[in-house]
Amino acid sequence: MGEGVWAAPGRVNLIGEHTDYNDGFAMPFALPHTVVAAAARRDDGVLRLRSADAPGGPVELRVSGLAPGAGPGGWSDYPAGVVWALRETVRGAVGGVDISFTSTVPMGAGLSSSAALEVVTALALNDLYELGLERRRLARLCQRAENVYAGAPTGIMDQTASACCTAGHALHLDTRDLSQRQIPFDPAAHGLALLAVDTRVRHALSDGAYGERRAGCAAGAAALEVEALRDVPYEGLDEELARLADEEIRRLVRHVVTENRRVEQVVAHLRAGDVRAVGPLLSEGHASLRDDFRVSCPELDLVVETALGAGALGARMTGGGFGGSAVVLAEAEGPAGVEVQTAVLTEAFAAAGLAAPRIFSAQPSGGAARLS
Ligand code: ADP
Ligand code: MG
Repeated sequence: MGEGVWAAPGRVNLIGEHTDYNDGFAMPFALPHTVVAAAARRDDGVLRLRSADAPGGPVELRVSGLAPGAGPGGWSDYPAGVVWALRETVRGAVGGVDISFTSTVPMGAGLSSSAALEVVTALALNDLYELGLERRRLARLCQRAENVYAGAPTGIMDQTASACCTAGHALHLDTRDLSQRQIPFDPAAHGLALLAVDTRVRHALSDGAYGERRAGCAAGAAALEVEALRDVPYEGLDEELARLADEEIRRLVRHVVTENRRVEQVVAHLRAGDVRAVGPLLSEGHASLRDDFRVSCPELDLVVETALGAGALGARMTGGGFGGSAVVLAEAEGPAGVEVQTAVLTEAFAAAGLAAPRIFSAQPSGGAARLS
């Protein structure tokens, strides 16, 4: 069949932040919000991309001319980059395609609309051209598209989450070998709810700061003579930290090592059916990102403090930081329930003179799929 419709979700990372370029662990789950692609093969070698959510008309490119830096820039670089990366892998066995996107994933909110856009493109082409590539491979190709073609240095978590998550689960991801385990995660069954809170701010320093953190982590690994910070054991961390002369690098290392441990602890609690025990680990993770890794911002801190003050079980920024979204684990109902949380957060933002945050429930949903 030469045409069809596919969908790929955005994600919330529950825990395990800034670990995915340190060969560490992450634990994302998929949002119910998706990028949907209606796609059809075409035999003239033209890639035609349209998005209902992007300004401007369709973008037309020849697939044979796709190369990093050769595109028009902007949003079409993400799907065009995927077609380029696929063609490199399968030696040109991918031709033209017409794709129309529509999306419910907020853009630029730290909920991985970019990965959803890439993964839905990869899945559509994989089916339309019968490439038979498995999802982890597709996720890698999407990451390559984002890094090399769109020029955004990101780890592998987002694309893997969009491609591989399953409903009712968080994905325990080992970013070293991409091995993964589906961990049952159903807050509603425990009288709890997850809220994603989009602060609607994105601070301009984020790109350079990401590169700096990444370089700092690599320097820490080199100084400690390990392949990646994932190899620094939590037991004996203080002795390892004492070997580092640079205070800034010491903080980065401490975050990554303690964060990897928090992922393990969250997995253990979920395996034991104790969803409530996850809350404090989320808040600890936030403190570590704020104080050690220093990628939070006043708006994210405001969400976390306000939610905890109103009786949330735990809260943290999610995604790269410097704006974007936070995740809150709260009672579903009652005096500390989601309605109260929503009201209190909205009030706190108004009192601080900020635009109202976008707050929505985020139950763990399914990964990318063909719809028709
Ligand atoms: P995030 O992935 O957290 O949403 P990014 O900055 O990584 O933020 O990606 C956002 C970019 O992805 C947008 O600026 C746009 O270029 C592109 N994008 C995402 N979703 C769509 C869409 N539905 N249509 C067009 N472009 C999109
Ligand atoms: Mg992104």
